[in-house]
Amino acid sequence: MIYDYLIIGSGPAGSILAKSLPTKSKILIVDIAKNSDHYKTQNFKHPLINFCTSNYKIRYSNRLGGNSVLWNNKLSILSPHEFRDMGFLFSYDEYKKYSSEIIKILNLKKIKKKYNPTFLEVFRAKLDNIFTLMNLKKNKNIKILKGHFPVKIIFDKNKKRVKGITFKNKIKNKTYYFKKNLVLCAGNFGNVFMIKNFFKKNRNSGKILCDHPHISINIDFTLSKKFLEFKKKFNYEKKIVYEKLYTKVNKPLYTVQLKKNFDNKSKSLFFKFVNIILHKLKIKSFYNLEFVFSQKKNKSRSIDLNSYSKIENSKKLDVFYKIQKKELENIKDNIEQIVKRKISSFSELVIGNHPCCSNPMGKNKISSVVDKNLKLNKYKNVYLCGSDVFPNSGLTNPTFTIMVLSRRLAKYLSLN
Ligand SMILES: Cc1cc2nc3c(=O)[nH]c(=O)nc-3n(C[C@H](O)[C@H](O)[C@H](O)COP(=O)(O)OP(=O)(O)OC[C@H]3O[C@@H](n4cnc5c(N)ncnc54)[C@H](O)[C@@H]3O)c2cc1C
Repeated sequence: MIYDYLIIGSGPAGSILAKSLPTKSKILIVDIAKNSDHYKTQNFKHPLINFCTSNYKIRYSNRLGGNSVLWNNKLSILSPHEFRDMGFLFSYDEYKKYSSEIIKILNLKKIKKKYNPTFLEVFRAKLDNIFTLMNLKKNKNIKILKGHFPVKIIFDKNKKRVKGITFKNKIKNKTYYFKKNLVLCAGNFGNVFMIKNFFKKNRNSGKILCDHPHISINIDFTLSKKFLEFKKKFNYEKKIVYEKLYTKVNKPLYTVQLKKNFDNKSKSLFFKFVNIILHKLKIKSFYNLEFVFSQKKNKSRSIDLNSYSKIENSKKLDVFYKIQKKELENIKDNIEQIVKRKISSFSELVIGNHPCCSNPMGKNKISSVVDKNLKLNKYKNVYLCGSDVFPNSGLTNPTFTIMVLSRRLAKYLSLN
């Protein structure tokens, strides 16, 4: 069979794209993940990565649904300021239009009522695996293959159009052909792996790697009280946590959110009980503040091919990630202003869950990887979707925006 679209990757980007393309089109989704789409939060070593700097923790689910099998279900809509600062090449009205469609698809009606896009909102809705939620297996026009590894791209004569891809699975190699487009939705690292190995005319992939560090600090009782009062005032619906207290109106540098400090460390009731007692006795606060910082591009963060380490004849990736001393000082300064004390260490520093910007959208072909419609520069029918196409890093969790980009891309592909 000849398909219309071939989608590489079944995470939120690939799932929403497949769901949003015309139902009369034949779609093939292929994923290297070996396991089915159960929501199991166990993570594996990323199969495409050879080396990674030790402070950067990359997660990989090895399940259909990609990293939405591991995620915390925090959905965030970009504010107009952040959208503008991130440098997307389309209007905020368009972003809002597709956001509303995603809210509808995910059945977040209650949230839609309260949705006010002039604020930076974070809300949790128990969506778990987006692939499962989309129920793609039910669609007769969509075929899904897991445990298939791309080994060869079949180009047309001038090497600008892709006609098919050969995949290797446990049994044998098989080539799948398609008429219209190839869309890479393989996550930030998967997309860089594909471009660097198979689409070499484009040389900008992986020059940039950004993330947004999540940093937790235990806070004292007075400050936690202040934050609790704030939270109560704005927490008009249980799922919505408003977190703008210290974000500057025009330039959000970071967000900050109140968290119970037993959240990640232990789920046991006993541990929680001990924490509450310590809090009541004013020995250790029950609350952490979780700060999220956006990150500027920096030469000390990039992705390269390793010449020796290979998987199915393709070169694996080396990931270099460093937070510069100056950046760290800046982060500490900002936090110290809020907690009003010197900090020597963080209770928790999480980096690696939200890689982005490695295949940035841009007007300038000298530095960008995709154009405003997410088409890969120098190729005619290859598109990308994911946080890798973000022009700059934001501080908002990326998955909602990734799904908005997928929806927008589906509309574009169905009209062209
Ligand atoms: C612990 C954790 C918590 C998180 N919490 C949140 C949160 O609360 N809110 C939020 O917005 N985001 C969160 N994220 C980030 C979120 O998971 C990602 O933004 C989202 O999954 C990205 O979607 P994607 O479809 O672009 O890529 P992915 O979900 O990474 O999916 C990519 C898929 O492509 C496949 N693939 C890769 N390479 C190839 C290849 N060469 N060939 C074929 N298939 C390939 C992979 O197997 C994978 O299934 C979290 C991430 C982690 C790890």
